[in-house]
Amino acid sequence: MSHPHCRQIQASVHDYLDGELPASNAEIVSEHLQFCPDCAYLVQFESAVRARVRECCSADAAPPELRVRILTRITQVVTQVRVTYRERPDDVER
Ligand SMILES: [Zn+2]
Repeated sequence: MSHPHCRQIQASVHDYLDGELPASNAEIVSEHLQFCPDCAYLVQFESAVRARVRECCSADAAPPELRVRILTRITQVVTQVRVTYRERPDDVER
């Protein structure tokens, strides 16, 4: 650690990035980051990770209409398969 405050600063990095630090504390962190490359790097790294997580999570969340469409289509396919199986059992045996 290059500065006695580094531990405290790094402990509050998450709150700092969330904007949950009181203004006076956030100011202390900001000032510290200007002369401490270690803590500045940590904040940069953390915010890059958060950006990446946001990207991934938003890609995973399907809009509700799409979920309904996909579920409806799956139900249709399953029903068709069952009907085909009952109507032409010989075809399935081949
Ligand atoms: Zn530091």
